[in-house]
Amino acid sequence: MSVFYRSTRGQGEQITASQAILNGIAPDGGLYVPTSIPVPSFPFEDFAKLDYRETALAVLTLFFEDFTEEELKNCVERAYDDKFDIPEKVALKEAAGVYYLELWHGPTIAFKDMALSILPHLMTAAARKNGITDEIVILTATSGDTGKAALAGFADVPGTRIAVFYPENGVSRIQKLQMVTQKGKNTCVTGIRGNFDDAQTGVKKMFTDRALAEELAGKGFRFSSANSINIGRLVPQIVYYIYAWSRLLKNGVITGDDRVRIAVPTGNFGNILAAYYAMLMGLPVEKLICASNENKVLYDFFGTGTYDRNREFVLTTSPSMDILISSNLERLIYHVAGDDPEKNRELMSALSSGGRYEITPKMKDRLAVFESGFATQEETAAEIKRVFDESGYLIDPHTAVASAVVNRSAGDAAPVILASTASPYKFAGTVTGALGIDTGDADDFALAKMLSEATNTEVPKAVKDLEGEPVRHEGVCDKDGMEQAVKSFLGV
Ligand SMILES: *Cc1c(COP(=O)(O)O)cnc(C)c1O
Repeated sequence: MSVFYRSTRGQGEQITASQAILNGIAPDGGLYVPTSIPVPSFPFEDFAKLDYRETALAVLTLFFEDFTEEELKNCVERAYDDKFDIPEKVALKEAAGVYYLELWHGPTIAFKDMALSILPHLMTAAARKNGITDEIVILTATSGDTGKAALAGFADVPGTRIAVFYPENGVSRIQKLQMVTQKGKNTCVTGIRGNFDDAQTGVKKMFTDRALAEELAGKGFRFSSANSINIGRLVPQIVYYIYAWSRLLKNGVITGDDRVRIAVPTGNFGNILAAYYAMLMGLPVEKLICASNENKVLYDFFGTGTYDRNREFVLTTSPSMDILISSNLERLIYHVAGDDPEKNRELMSALSSGGRYEITPKMKDRLAVFESGFATQEETAAEIKRVFDESGYLIDPHTAVASAVVNRSAGDAAPVILASTASPYKFAGTVTGALGIDTGDADDFALAKMLSEATNTEVPKAVKDLEGEPVRHEGVCDKDGMEQAVKSFLGV
């Protein structure tokens, strides 16, 4: 075996993939990173011969070495089945000169399904492999989409329970409805009086609280994470970048040597980090375009080399990107520091004490492949309208943030693969507003119908099925009350 996992903060030994997936976050508060990036044994162009599942199997096999082929195959088949509404699982649509990679054909109509439909299977296989008999308790902080996708993935999975925390006033109405109507005896959904960063910080605190871990272990529980801090989330996201590139190759849009630009609407930095890993595996990438909304902490970081979260938190029309502490950036920092845990630890402790850190000029040079931009809410709305008017293609506000950034950075010939991260129907209010459709005070379901009629597109089943579902989770707590909420859910 050659790929192991270690903490970005350097404490503790190297562990296997299955152990990293089970732990979620390292005991020292760091994130697990691969000790080396594996490269396929076959020419990269051969990915064009593989379908989505086969691509997934090839990538997972390289990163998750201690799983057997049988186990990974089983995980892939159970994840990428007909809960996706197209046989290809993802679609690549050309519109207004950009290749939109639609990652929202899964059950919760956002890209989080791509990884969260496989994570529960990886996790239960990992538990069996490591002889874990404790019940696994998934703790999840969500800015809107992870929560529902994780709930859908883990609901009624034997041996697991899942607790989700979302900012009570920081998600779209459809996102909230999707979560609070969740079925499944092992699920718990709680709104917090605070923002996403508060939810994420609270969850991370519980993960690294040893006394709490011991108390729960005594009762037969152990925590893990379904957030993109879990390496089991990140690796399945590498797959679709390789797949999208290989479709362009297969369709003769590019040759094997042509580079592509990859644009990603970014929040917690998980999705774009997966594209970076794809590049390190050999994907010919010219630029990785990191797009932010008005919470443009990443845009400022790439421009200046200083990460500074000390600023006003803005609630925007792209709520899943309303984040000031982008967890996964820590993995990139670790890599551009030369896989140096000491340097990373120093910067992360500056972040947690003073809310900011500055990287060295050498580290900044290693970020040259990244380009960054941001779009205001107005620009985002205008972009939804521009793309629709020019091509009849409908995009959601998150996708539109990246689309606006790409549209502005014209002049580069390399084709753009743009991660389209949610169905426009998940944010029908914003999308109808952007298109100037008069909706009066219609509710979410009426809005979806109006959007459908005005744009000649179909309301996704996931939205239709929500109508009339009873609310099953009414819990709300303060950000200091999260531990208590988890304990009462577990009955301890
Ligand atoms: C989660 C999410 C994002 C941000 O992805 P990160 O991996 O957190 O950077 C963007 N758009 C949508 C719709 C999302 O759900």
